[in-house]
Amino acid sequence: MARLVMKFGGTSVANVERIRNVARHVKREWDAGNDVAVVVSAMSGKTNELVAWVKDASPLYDPKEYDTVVASGEQVTSGLLALALHELGLKARSWQGWQVPIYGSDAHGSSRIVDIDGANILKGFSDDRSIAVVSGFQGVNRETGRIVTLGRGGSDTSAVALAAALKADRCDIYTDVDGVYTTDPRIVSKARRLDRVSFEEMLEMASLGAKVLQVRSVELAMVHRVPTYVRSSFDDPSSPTPGTLICDEEDIVEQQIVTGIAYSKDEAQITLRRVADQPGVAAAIFGPLADANINVDMIIQVVSDDQATTDITFTVPTAEFERATSILRNARDAISYADLQGATDVVKVSAIGVGMRSHAGVAAKAFRALADKGINIRAITTSEIKFSILIDAAYTELAVRTLHSLYGLDAA
Ligand code: ADP
Ligand code: ASP
Ligand code: MG
Repeated sequence: MARLVMKFGGTSVANVERIRNVARHVKREWDAGNDVAVVVSAMSGKTNELVAWVKDASPLYDPKEYDTVVASGEQVTSGLLALALHELGLKARSWQGWQVPIYGSDAHGSSRIVDIDGANILKGFSDDRSIAVVSGFQGVNRETGRIVTLGRGGSDTSAVALAAALKADRCDIYTDVDGVYTTDPRIVSKARRLDRVSFEEMLEMASLGAKVLQVRSVELAMVHRVPTYVRSSFDDPSSPTPGTLICDEEDIVEQQIVTGIAYSKDEAQITLRRVADQPGVAAAIFGPLADANINVDMIIQVVSDDQATTDITFTVPTAEFERATSILRNARDAISYADLQGATDVVKVSAIGVGMRSHAGVAAKAFRALADKGINIRAITTSEIKFSILIDAAYTELAVRTLHSLYGLDAA
C-alpha cells in the first residue's frame, strides 16, 4: 500500500461535474489500497476574479486582506470535492491551510512554506483511511495567525510540500494537458509529450515561462526527492495515462541537446541612451533598482557611435515596469543619460537542455534561423543549460515554432 498526494488544478475543478470526475480519479487510487491526500486549486478564473475584486476595493490594498480574499477560492473546491467523495461512499474531509496546519512565511502574496504538520492527516489515514482534501495555495503564518498565499500557481507547491511532509511515495499533478511537453502544446501543435524530464530542465522551463508547474514546486521535488508526475485529469478515470515523470538526469536514457522551448511575456525592456561610459555607471543604474526589490534579468551594453557614451538595455518583470522607469527618471542626474526608452510588447523565448553543457554553438544556430525568418533579436542571455532571446511579442509563435523545429523537437 502506498501513500499518494494527488493535485487537481483550476480547469480540473472548474465546475461540479468536473469535481465529480476528479472524485472518480481519487476513488480509483483509494480502491487500489493507497492512502490519499488531495490538493485542489480554485475553480479556473476564480482567483483572477478575486484579485480583481481586491484591486477594485482598494488599489493600494493591504496584502493581508488580499490573502484573506484570494485564499477563499480553494476553500470552496475542497469542500465540494469532499462532498463528491462522500457521494461515492468514501470517507473524506476538507482541510484549510490553517487547519492542517501548513505554516508559511509572512510574505503575503508570495509566502514560502516553512513547515507542515502532517500528523492530523496521517491520523485520518491510520484511523479509517479517511481521504484528506487540502486547499492548495494557502497556509497560515505561525507568528501572526494570518492567512497567507503562495503566489500564483501555488497549489503545485502545496502538493509537493505536502507529499514531502507526509513522506508520500508519489505526487501526481493532474492538469488539463497529459504531461510536460517540449513546448506549450497550446501554441505549437507539433509539441511532443516527454516521458521524463530532469529536475534541472523542468526548473529552467518553469522559471522561463512554462506555467505547467510553479517553480517552487520543482525546487521542492528536487530537494526532497519527491517522485512527481504531471498527468491529465481529463483522462477516463478507469484508464489513466502515466504522464511525465520529473526525475534525475541520470534516469533519462535518450537525452536530446535541447529538451524544451519556453516563452514568457512577463518581460519589459528598458533602454537608457547615451549613458556616460565611466566607472560606477552600472552601479548608479542597477543599485536603486535592487534597493526597490526590482529583479533585473537580461542586460546588454553597447558602445554608442560617439565612443564616449554607451547604450544600456535590460529587462524587468512587466509588473515592475512603471516603478522601474519612475526610479530611473528620478535618478537621471545621478546616472546622466540622454534618453529613456521602454517597451512592454516584448517576449523572452528560451531553449533549455542539459545537452548544452557538452555541445558548442547551440545558440548560434538559433540566431541564424531566427534571422532567416526576419526576427530581430533585442537582447540575449545564456547560461549552462539554456539561452534566452528577447524579441517583439508579435513574433512569439513564429520564434517558438522555428526553434522547436530547428532542434528536432517536432512530433512526426
Ligand atoms: P492548472 O490549472 O492545472 O494548474 P495551468 O494552466 O497552471 O494548469 O498549467 C497547465 C498549462 O500549462 C497547460 O494548459 C499549457 O497550456 C501550459 N504549458 C506551458 N508550457 C507547457 C509545457 N511545456 N508542457 C505542458 N504544458 C505547458
Ligand atoms: N488558484 C491559484 C491561482 O490561480 C493557485 C493555483 O491554481 O495553483 O494562482
Ligand atoms: Mg497551475
